[in-house]
Amino acid sequence: MISYINGEVVNVIVSEDMPIGMPEHVWENHDGSYTMKLNAVYNHETLQESFLHAVGHIAEDDFHKGQSADEIEAEAHGRQYAVVVNVR
Ligand SMILES: [Zn+2]
Repeated sequence: MISYINGEVVNVIVSEDMPIGMPEHVWENHDGSYTMKLNAVYNHETLQESFLHAVGHIAEDDFHKGQSADEIEAEAHGRQYAVVVNVR
């Protein structure tokens, strides 16, 4: 599923091949788009939270801040996200 989040192209995949303890994983691709994997093991509520957490990383441009992963996560956990996502 391709979504557009703050104008960024995000390929969202629900995966059955992710480790327990990792509800989501998001990264930037070489072409500047993003891929977000959601772990199919988790329930809808958890995936919704995880989705919004990952959206926050994209919307706040966390991938270009030059901070460590720990710093980025510390900031991200204080965020409350409710976004409108256009799915095409
Ligand atoms: Zn995170």
